[in-house]
Amino acid sequence: MASFAHVAIDGPAGSGKTTVARRLSERLGILYLDTGAMYRAVALLALRAGVAVDDEGAVLRLARAHPVDIRLGGATPLGFRVFAGDEELGTELYGNGVSTVVSVVAAHPLVRELMVARQRSIATLGPVVMAGRDIGTIVLPDAPVKVFLTASVDARVRRRRMELAERGVAIDESELTAQMLERDRLDRERPVAPLRPAPGAHLIDSTDLSIDQVVDAIAGLATHPAAPGR
Ligand code: C5P
Repeated sequence: MASFAHVAIDGPAGSGKTTVARRLSERLGILYLDTGAMYRAVALLALRAGVAVDDEGAVLRLARAHPVDIRLGGATPLGFRVFAGDEELGTELYGNGVSTVVSVVAAHPLVRELMVARQRSIATLGPVVMAGRDIGTIVLPDAPVKVFLTASVDARVRRRRMELAERGVAIDESELTAQMLERDRLDRERPVAPLRPAPGAHLIDSTDLSIDQVVDAIAGLATHPAAPGR
């Protein structure tokens, strides 16, 4: 793979990685991809088709029949466009139904293989800020800048609610907390590509930091990437 100056940002739900990654990509003038949208697309396909989300074979067949395609760039709400086959997917990706089952879908190794191949091919287009759960560990392990972003549960719930509100999705605070913690648990405990800091990742706790402060910190690392794990 070409050794572009990629930036890998991983972290749990609501850690701020989506907003940070998008702003950072604008600041650095490079591509941006939030890989969670791809797993959400597969989850949405499964829900619509009435396929059991824990049936890996059935989910995989669907994902192969309706390939998830990402078109980068453009002033869209997500910062990129998500397609499954010919159909463009919208805010439904962030609805409660998808959020409740996406971690089950994302735990299937063969589904991950498909998504990772697509993510790596996007990374051959040029430098990219890629956000997800396994970007530094699996997708782009050679990225010169890797960040693991965390925040307190309260801060994460607050941010996720605001993010969802911007996408037109309203959700009760206690329901969101329970859903987020369960998603984190599944993402951390799965055998394949579990959520964890990559070797050499810079750990940033964003609880008391503004988005701009986090973006500044990572932009600094991207300019002087020679001090891993600080
Ligand atoms: O980032 P977002 O909350 O949209 O991600 C939705 C879900 O997709 C995560 O909870 C996780 O199960 C899965 N995911 C993943 N690997 C990634 C990105 C997301 O497993 N790189």
